[in-house]
Amino acid sequence: MNPRVETDRPSDAEGVQTWLEEAGVAAVALGFVDPSMIVRVKTVPVARFARVAASGVGLSTLFNVAMSNDQFALLPGYIDGPSGDIRLRPDVAATVPLAAMPGWAWAPVYQFSQAGEPYPGCPRAFAHGMADAVAARGSSVQAAFEFEFSVGLRRGDDTFEPAHEGPGYSDIAIVANHDFALDLITTTQAQGLDLQQFHPEYADGQFEMSIAPRPPVEAADAAMVVRQTVRAVARRHGLRASFAPQVGPDTGNGTHLHLSLWEGDRNLMSGGKGPAGMHQRGASFVAGILHELPALVGVTVPTALGYLRLRPHHWSGAMQCWGTENREAALRFIEGPTPATARGANIEIKPLDGTANPYLAVGAALAAALHGLDRDDRLPPQTVEDPDGLPDQVKAERNVRQLPSSLSEAVEHLAGSSVLRDAMGEFLFETFLATRRGECEQTAGLDDDELIRRLRWRY
Ligand code: GLU
Ligand code: MG
Repeated sequence: MNPRVETDRPSDAEGVQTWLEEAGVAAVALGFVDPSMIVRVKTVPVARFARVAASGVGLSTLFNVAMSNDQFALLPGYIDGPSGDIRLRPDVAATVPLAAMPGWAWAPVYQFSQAGEPYPGCPRAFAHGMADAVAARGSSVQAAFEFEFSVGLRRGDDTFEPAHEGPGYSDIAIVANHDFALDLITTTQAQGLDLQQFHPEYADGQFEMSIAPRPPVEAADAAMVVRQTVRAVARRHGLRASFAPQVGPDTGNGTHLHLSLWEGDRNLMSGGKGPAGMHQRGASFVAGILHELPALVGVTVPTALGYLRLRPHHWSGAMQCWGTENREAALRFIEGPTPATARGANIEIKPLDGTANPYLAVGAALAAALHGLDRDDRLPPQTVEDPDGLPDQVKAERNVRQLPSSLSEAVEHLAGSSVLRDAMGEFLFETFLATRRGECEQTAGLDDDELIRRLRWRY
């Protein structure tokens, strides 16, 4: 089965149902990604797919205020009790057979009210709306999440035994895991995800993979399929994979987001007269994100666990600044100075981890970027040095600050962001904020080991 023979893919629900059946699919998993990046799944037999595409399947509204521990952060006036249901409708055009789970297909969903109206808490609709807003300004965005994850054994005493012990980036780590690695590479290709690179990362048991950029909602959809693929392939090798930002005290896992802004076939991140070869609109796009970062991390680093990772000198982008190829900068700029690399120029948002809902993350990043575009924001001088080590005066000139160092600090910035509030709409913004406040309460006073122990296998 090659799920990626999509050229003759039908577009109507009945046609897709037949196409899925012919690809050997028996069950379709409808996946709703909640505000805590837990994927809530309802499964239907493939024979019901077309019907469900029209009617949707029911899910309690409570999952829009779900926290990482499966409890609900009730918010009076918004979502405050056990009554209420929404309908999850699969996006027919985005439903794909899963190469790593033969017989299964994956369907991202939009949320609707019982009356058939778009539901204001839907993260995927939010991301879509932001991509449309970029299009309304005559531009488009290419996006790609880049995944770091930890692979190993979950021991009976709940400890993590890494699948390799380095050295970082080494052939030794590959040799020790060659069956798993090869299976992952070939399965990812069979899935049509267009794998760009795979390598062992710095920490014990850590790997990284990146896939080709695509439009924002598709990039978030692909992120979900990558995670299913990594988990399923790891399982068949007797291993477990975790996308948690920390699985131990070692170097953390990021899920960096790469973005580029286009006008037609022209990448506004290269070949221009602005900073580091950006076009001015490209620079304004980046400046908008840079400005909003303290609030944005409330969306992109949304659990207390993420703040064990988001620290200076961990290449996690804890400092609010931008710089060409600077791995300590929150925004690492990847230049495209040659004809061979110009199309690949992009900005990498590093303070983003695997506990972030990719639809909310990409939507919020675009909201900030659009604000920068609309105001014609200018970038401060770039930082190529270690930003933490800059003299105070230089930090002040360039507005270089450390990003929030705790979830509660990030939540306060988020609460004050009119840019993100306006873009998300009051319902999504307030309910999301309630879940983050709930996470703060649930994890208050926990030491690092306990935080890791509680969340490591939930991601
Ligand atoms: N592991 C680092 C992080 O937490 C990123 C390392 C890199 O730059 O690839 O984001
Ligand atoms: Mg990396």
